[in-house]
Amino acid sequence: MRRLGLVLVTIGLLGIIVGSILRSPPNISPQIKEVSHPRPQNEGIHESMTEEKEEKQKNSPEPPLVFVHDVTPYYFDDLREIVAVLDEYNYSNRTVLFVIPVFDPDHYGDEWSLRNHPDFVEYLHELQMRGYRVELHGYGHTYHEFNCSYETAKEKLDNATAMMTSLGFGNLTLFLPPAWALNNESLKAILEHNLTVVTPDWLIFPNGTRQRIWNREYTWYIERNEVEGRLSVALHDYRKAIEEGIPFYLSVHPGVINYGGGLEFLREFLDTVCRPEKS
Ligand SMILES: [Zn+2]
Repeated sequence: MRRLGLVLVTIGLLGIIVGSILRSPPNISPQIKEVSHPRPQNEGIHESMTEEKEEKQKNSPEPPLVFVHDVTPYYFDDLREIVAVLDEYNYSNRTVLFVIPVFDPDHYGDEWSLRNHPDFVEYLHELQMRGYRVELHGYGHTYHEFNCSYETAKEKLDNATAMMTSLGFGNLTLFLPPAWALNNESLKAILEHNLTVVTPDWLIFPNGTRQRIWNREYTWYIERNEVEGRLSVALHDYRKAIEEGIPFYLSVHPGVINYGGGLEFLREFLDTVCRPEKS
């Protein structure tokens, strides 16, 4: 009973927060508005929801978003496998694909540039049409790429956004730095590009304000016999985040989650959060 009360209070607070975000000027937090964009699968958070929907919302907290890192043609097959699992749970509109425009030019030159893989670009457009969201994950994803000077960061961002726009992916709003590497100079350049920075603990908005989040990865090359253990840790964190009113994001890497028990973890996690009576 106490837990139900907590959940109700949390949902009430979330409603107020989402309501105020939806009413706030678009330049403050457009990305949150888009993340929360009402679609059939997550209709509960829209302001004008009916009482029936409110009742449904009380019983089922908003499922978390999935952040797919390292989206590049280099991992085309792995990405297809991940998408197949996400699709089983109609999770397209709750998934963000963080794209690398030119994967690892230090090692591969422009071999994995999006420009050289029109089939992959077309695939991304298909996913986008089905609700998947496309955002930015560095430019070349070289080692600690954005632990760099303001000038270098600015140049990389100019190149990245220009290429993405030319391929039909304009209006980018989120930036996830490769390996979470950042410094004050590069952060300044990213925010000046009107991008919200995603870190494990914070969203940093273009106006410099921060929002606490819980963004973690539970599938770093896990074996099949580790699935249940990782799942119980992830679900514990998820419930705690709900209780504290902190948005929960599940980060995954193609090529990594495809190993061992990774995809089974993803399937079981989504199965649980999509059926809240189990969580
Ligand atoms: Zn990465």
